[in-house]
Amino acid sequence: MSSVAKEAEISTSTTLFSGLGFHARVVSQVVQPKSAQELQQYIAQAYQNKQPVYPIGKGNNWGYGCKTPPSDGCTLLDLSAMNQILSFDETLGVIEIEPGVTQGQVARYLENTPWILDCTGAGPDTSIMGNVLERGFGHGPVGNRSQHFTISELILADGEVIRLNQSSRYCGRAGLSANLHELFTQNNIAVISKMTFELMRKPECSLRCLVRLKSPEHLPDYIDIMRRLKSEGTIDGLPHLGNTYRMLTMMERFNFERWDPAKGANEADIAQLCQQYQLTPWSGAFVITGATSIAKAKAAQVKKLLTPIAQVNIVSLKTLKQLNQIAQKFSPVFGRIALYRRFQNSLNDFTEMMDMLEGNPKDMALKGCYWRYRKDIPAKMNPVEDGCGFFWVAPALPLIGDDVEQCIQLSQKAFDAAGFEFGVTLTAVNAHLCQAIISIYYDTTDKNEVERATRLAQELRALYREQRWPCYRRSVDEMPFDSEQEFELDALKLRQRIKAAFDPEDMVSPGRYQPNPSLDFSKEHQG
Ligand SMILES: Cc1cc2nc3c(=O)[nH]c(=O)nc-3n(C[C@H](O)[C@H](O)[C@H](O)COP(=O)(O)OP(=O)(O)OC[C@H]3O[C@@H](n4cnc5c(N)ncnc54)[C@H](O)[C@@H]3O)c2cc1C
Repeated sequence: MSSVAKEAEISTSTTLFSGLGFHARVVSQVVQPKSAQELQQYIAQAYQNKQPVYPIGKGNNWGYGCKTPPSDGCTLLDLSAMNQILSFDETLGVIEIEPGVTQGQVARYLENTPWILDCTGAGPDTSIMGNVLERGFGHGPVGNRSQHFTISELILADGEVIRLNQSSRYCGRAGLSANLHELFTQNNIAVISKMTFELMRKPECSLRCLVRLKSPEHLPDYIDIMRRLKSEGTIDGLPHLGNTYRMLTMMERFNFERWDPAKGANEADIAQLCQQYQLTPWSGAFVITGATSIAKAKAAQVKKLLTPIAQVNIVSLKTLKQLNQIAQKFSPVFGRIALYRRFQNSLNDFTEMMDMLEGNPKDMALKGCYWRYRKDIPAKMNPVEDGCGFFWVAPALPLIGDDVEQCIQLSQKAFDAAGFEFGVTLTAVNAHLCQAIISIYYDTTDKNEVERATRLAQELRALYREQRWPCYRRSVDEMPFDSEQEFELDALKLRQRIKAAFDPEDMVSPGRYQPNPSLDFSKEHQG
């Protein structure tokens, strides 16, 4: 064993389950470097030994594959111990981080500064770098994360260190590297060791807008209104809208005593639960921020456009927290009344969720993953390690009401036929893109159900390909891609050529976001 290998913590061959049906891969060893220098030395040595590597930050890529590489035999480079916040420019609101830095860590670091983190819903223990590299998104003005970072340092497959940003101070993607940064997202051409990431200024006024559509028929209108509100700049965050099941799964559990898992939840019972929680078929929330007068003017415009189709409540976080405190104060008196308890719990959950939009990551959304889980939910949740079954499928749609409605109808049909509850969130990422995140929750203790859920995931992926709705993010059980079925073939060909130029020996994350090697496009180009 070399000195580098001795220094980095090493464990040997392990089977890693991705949490996606029965999918698993074997990693030959797990290495945990503690510094960029140790990481560089390890990569250079692995290259000499022709040993492929697979880097992860925290490995909490739940619903898309966690720590599992697309192919067997990699060394897992677990970068979670490289968790230094390297610098913070308090004037410009940017932070430079290592791969293992988490949302929770940054939120704590920024306390008492004018800046906050634009959080994702994945909770405090997830990495920022892994999420950015997967092109993940949060909720606020810099929530479309892949547009708000630069790579300061990366390590190529042979161990060469490249520094992309050499300016005296952060100035975005100016300079010769221009948009090279995004080339390294959803890719397998380098290991990223340092990244600079833009923060969100703590707003003077931060309003919370709660929207409940009056009827499911209003979904296309809502989407078209969002296009207008996003394109005219009234909403600068990323409004999320969830359907009944997406909301209900965070509050309730599948009733195994009353419902048949092969057929799905009973509609009449669900209608009753919706009444209890006052859930409409679609409900959502977003932030309206800015100087007080500007935020108020934006709120008035939101209310004017949405009121014909939705109940719209706009409240400041401060008021919400005060209401929650009052409700808690009266809990010893009224807490015995079931209706009051439900009201108080809902108000508390909503306040917590809205606090997340203030830069404080929460793990409460993880509860939803336990919908078809048969045991008690542990206090500290890690849904895949705990044994929850779920897939995310993420078709990207044009922000046009009829297109989104079509996707919802077709997806609902597939879920009904498969006997699963159809849960979805719709996010207006910008004025053009509606990102659907579709969840399939299943019981991992039932082999038939795992197979049914896997089949449904495959059917949905095929459906979206057929409709030419590209998924914004892909799961490890699909990789390497079966090129015959992909519709963006030219893009895949180019990706393969880029990969060959950067990493001809296929040493970094083989198969990740790449076509199956049996279809070698590069030969066509040589010929
Ligand atoms: C209930 C729930 C809610 C969620 N909400 C959101 C949400 O709001 N937004 C969202 O985007 N996601 C969400 N997710 C999905 C996912 O959990 C998050 O995206 C999470 O941040 C990904 O895990 P991670 O940050 O630990 O990344 P990692 O698992 O560390 O990284 C992800 C991948 O990036 C690559 N990678 C990581 N580090 C490097 C590196 N240094 N160099 C090269 N490649 C690297 C690897 O291939 C790795 O597999 C949610 C999941 C659940 C269960």
